Amino acid sequence: MELIDTHAHLTFEELESQAEDVIARSIEAGVVGWVTIGTDREQMERAVALADRFENMWAAAGIHPHYAKDAAAGDVDYLRQLAADRKIVAIGECGLDFHYNFSAQDMQRELFRAQLKIAAEAGLPVVVHTRNAFDESMSILDEFAGQLKDVVIHCYGGDAEQTELVLSRGYHISFTGIITFKKSDELREVAKLVPLDRMMVETDCPYISPTPVRNQRPCEPAMLVHTAKTLAELKGVSLDEFSQEVTATSQRFFNIQL
Ligand SMILES: [Zn+2]
Repeated sequence: MELIDTHAHLTFEELESQAEDVIARSIEAGVVGWVTIGTDREQMERAVALADRFENMWAAAGIHPHYAKDAAAGDVDYLRQLAADRKIVAIGECGLDFHYNFSAQDMQRELFRAQLKIAAEAGLPVVVHTRNAFDESMSILDEFAGQLKDVVIHCYGGDAEQTELVLSRGYHISFTGIITFKKSDELREVAKLVPLDRMMVETDCPYISPTPVRNQRPCEPAMLVHTAKTLAELKGVSLDEFSQEVTATSQRFFNIQL
């Protein structure tokens, strides 16, 4: 089995400080590729540096909506330059978070558009974070219709109607360990609607350890297997078949090769 953790924050201190061990445990578990995510200027720099150290590790660079208020104009320029780095395979995570509202909504919108523009210019796919802002995220993405290489809605939590809309746009959907939680019956029904050639899996580590290791912190890429197992069952395929399909989807999406 060869899975790719398509959304991991491996520059999180507790993970980065033991990166060799984290990666060894991951490979042991069958999770053999990683996209580490930069969320502000410092994190994107570190993400690229970390990805340079490991084979089959790539980086996405973006400014998380939480940090919109701290982002300087120079950070967007920096992202534009970084987009040309050989290890950068996507722009993000970027988007809107109207749940926490750590940054003013107008700032979030402006920064989201700026990053979509960079993705369009660079021909890179986009990793979207959206929370309590589904309709508006979709309508901002619609402004860039035909210009974006590809889009994934990460840490997916949409309902059936929203899922239909996401799929109708040709976007991808990425599930975290939330799919394994007892309370996630509705999300499990939604997952059945998503074809494997549009589905990806992620830990979003260090957050969201899946059941049955939910109490273990930090979450790390090796734990992705539990998420994959749950999704394989829902889709009625073996874990091997599931991993083959979603890994092919992930490689196509990020234009990467294990
Ligand atoms: Zn994330």
